[in-house]
Amino acid sequence: MRIGFIGLGVMGAPMAGHLTAGGNTLVTCLNRSPLPEGLVATVAQNPCAVARDSDIVILMLPDTPDVERVLMGADGVIAGLNPGTLVIDMSTISPIATAQFAEAVRAAGGSYLDAPVSGGEVGAKAGSLTIMVGGAEEDFARALPLFQLMGKNITLVGTANGAGQTCKLANQIIVALNIEAVAEALVFASKAGCDPARVRQALMGGFAASRILEVHGERMIARSFNPGFRIRLHQKDLALALSSARELGVALPNTATAQELMNACSAKGLRDADHSALVQALESMADHALSGG
Ligand code: NAD
Repeated sequence: MRIGFIGLGVMGAPMAGHLTAGGNTLVTCLNRSPLPEGLVATVAQNPCAVARDSDIVILMLPDTPDVERVLMGADGVIAGLNPGTLVIDMSTISPIATAQFAEAVRAAGGSYLDAPVSGGEVGAKAGSLTIMVGGAEEDFARALPLFQLMGKNITLVGTANGAGQTCKLANQIIVALNIEAVAEALVFASKAGCDPARVRQALMGGFAASRILEVHGERMIARSFNPGFRIRLHQKDLALALSSARELGVALPNTATAQELMNACSAKGLRDADHSALVQALESMADHALSGG
């Protein structure tokens, strides 16, 4: 199959690599970065030319305005869409904008899936991403062989476009609040005089055990804040959750607090640190660092 793939960054490059390894041919366009090393693809002039030359177009772009530009711009995907082309947006963006983008693609004779992922760079490289999909069942069936090259846990969350993005934001809420809970507990125990490493070890055997206590708790104690998943990306995702919640009339009080703590981390120069560095905002407020400083 001829696949247009736009957004060959940290995530997109290895995902596109799995598609070519699966026997597909790639066409792409580039803005700033060159073609990633080792990736075989035809480089087209712009997203319009990519769409003209593809059966399926996949996007893996940073944020909502990027997807809007690439889809709806004068030389965008929609301007070059062949009838029946499936557009799959795998970026994490606004569920509300997603519904509008899907409508515009359908009006141009194409179809649309939102299919954001979790699993990070490690999952992208291993082809083991979790993929959360919104869209029609027949489009999901058409895309499934491609998803299976990039991921393992693949779910059609709902048949309305935006369902995949909503599910991804729910994931980001759960992860952020768990990181915050682990960080609070470790700062509390440490300032009370306990060794946070022993506290973590004890808790891993009980009801408070979690993957976040295991992985992110370890990073907090070891002061190992290399990403991982960057604070600024998690800030973007929580901002999407909070703005969607405002439109829906849903209060997300603890998501708002987690977002403020991430804002505090950004102010401390931690925008590109792993999201477990959120502990540093709580350490400032407690005037106590886990390392005992
Ligand atoms: P990234 O910044 O590494 O990659 C984005 C790529 O898009 C870059 O190569 C950039 O040059 C390209 N791009 C932007 N505008 C373009 C344009 N107009 N034309 C062509 N290319 C263009 O970001 P990433 O880490 O790969 O993340 C991509 C998406 O996946 C984001 O929405 C992110 O939230 C989500 N995500 C990231 C992770 C992670 O761990 N990094 C995990 C899950 C989901």
